[in-house]
Amino acid sequence: LSSKLQETIKKFRGKGRVTEKDVKQMMREIKLALLEADVNFKVVKDFIDKVSERAVGQDVLESLTPGQQVIKIVNEEMIDLMGSSQSKVTFSSKPPTVYMMVGLQGSGKTTTTGKLANLLRKQGKKPLLVACDVYRPAAIKQLQVVGGQLDIDVFAIENSKKPVDIAKAAVEHAISNQFDLVIIDTAGRLHIDEELMNELENIKMAVMPQEILLVVDSMTGQDAVNVAKTFNEKLGIDGIILTKLDGDTRGGAALSVKAVTGKPIKFIGTGEKLNEIEPFFPDRMASRILGMGDVLSLIEKAQEAFDEKKAMELEKKMRTQQFTLDDFLEQMQQIRKMGPLNQLLGMIPGLNANALKNVEIDEKKMVHIEAIIQSMTKEERLNPSIINGSRRKRIARGSGTTVQQVNRLLKDFENMKKMFKSMSEMTKFGKRGKKGF
Ligand code: GDP
Ligand code: MG
Repeated sequence: LSSKLQETIKKFRGKGRVTEKDVKQMMREIKLALLEADVNFKVVKDFIDKVSERAVGQDVLESLTPGQQVIKIVNEEMIDLMGSSQSKVTFSSKPPTVYMMVGLQGSGKTTTTGKLANLLRKQGKKPLLVACDVYRPAAIKQLQVVGGQLDIDVFAIENSKKPVDIAKAAVEHAISNQFDLVIIDTAGRLHIDEELMNELENIKMAVMPQEILLVVDSMTGQDAVNVAKTFNEKLGIDGIILTKLDGDTRGGAALSVKAVTGKPIKFIGTGEKLNEIEPFFPDRMASRILGMGDVLSLIEKAQEAFDEKKAMELEKKMRTQQFTLDDFLEQMQQIRKMGPLNQLLGMIPGLNANALKNVEIDEKKMVHIEAIIQSMTKEERLNPSIINGSRRKRIARGSGTTVQQVNRLLKDFENMKKMFKSMSEMTKFGKRGKKGF
């Protein structure tokens, strides 16, 4: 979806004058892009109608940069479509808060149960995971492995085939052991059927969860949206967690699921690792889809990985242009903690893919990078512009690498400098408080 829309947007962004015909043309292209991205047909129609109505109005045609004005409207309507503002999960006034995770098999329930517990623990909660998927023998084990990795307790009753009993016992256990958050992992099916819905309904009645969170696989596009609609009608859900957004190039589910179900997306899963979950922000998602880069998400990720003090030092260095190759080395090591670099890069406006496409960081390369930087003189590290051809040769020899590798590193360094520059500029605006849930 992104690339199609970005093309369209590029065409119009710089336009000084936009005619009604231009707007129509743009709307046609956006409509196609949305349909191709598997956005629900009715949602697309409503969306295009709304945007067109606003865009052909006098305001736009007479404004100074109509192209940008139209994009602004598209952006605003997209945000609106996805729920306007962030929808947080709620907590019971009387602990423990109980969440029930539901969804089809393979949607990511078990993984997300762990991810969510991990995330909310960082907010000071003490979570207990509950294994209520009693049909597949491996399911309980899987949750226990997840719990083990996170060092979070898992409640299970081996050999019991009664999810309702397990859920009830788990809540009792939580009360007597001071857990203030209970997250119940339930069984899924390949398709929605009566039996599954009855079971979920029974668990719901037994523990009265604060929230029923539906986990859907974004890669299944409109199917995900239909699943959400059915779960909401039959069981009632409070929020949606959209998983596998890292593999979803179309973005159709993210755009339409709120409009179709009336229920908000609360979190997104962006990878298999247990820290790859983020609160869902409609405005950020819209920018991401429109190719403006998801700066705020990036900053939050960065904030989690960097320690505060280091980040401050870095920001100061960036401001005073004292970012050196030594810092570069250290930052690369920090960045690796943030997760796959490509994922981060996609979030930076203006630095999309191309600029940093060739920055690859893996363990082996880190060793080379270290060796190369250590083979440089102090002066070279502070002022890489003096590193001419013969210096490059010397450095390559000294570090047991090639001149190409040295060249590559210097290029990466320049790119990284740009990246940190745009990050630190954003941070200056982004003096937002720590996220709350
Ligand atoms: P369940 O059957 O609903 O409990 O689903 P699981 O939690 O077992 O997940 C099914 C598969 O999807 C596993 O291989 C997970 O690692 C994977 N998965 C879950 N969430 C994500 C995500 O956000 N991104 C990616 N890439 N994979 C995910
Ligand atoms: Mg599971």
